[in-house]
Amino acid sequence: MNHKPVCIKCNTELRPEEVGVELLDMAEWGPYQLWNADLWKCPSCGIEIIVNFGNYGEHHNSPTFQEHTLDALNRKNLYLNKEYRKDGS
Ligand SMILES: [Zn+2]
Repeated sequence: MNHKPVCIKCNTELRPEEVGVELLDMAEWGPYQLWNADLWKCPSCGIEIIVNFGNYGEHHNSPTFQEHTLDALNRKNLYLNKEYRKDGS
């Protein structure tokens, strides 16, 4: 990432709030893919976004998918994307 994300409501750069969170893409039928990423936050209004995704997301058919998802859940740094679409749109 070459430029920090900017909150256009506050005209302020977001700050890293938590480095190394997990984002879980949810398909219509259930958990689909787990990504490592970072959580950033606007210091003014508090809006939070997930950025800095890793190059590889672990698929639901991986043998360690369930274990890694539960680990992230137990660490309380698991976030959900409920808008996952298989065609990537
Ligand atoms: Zn803001």
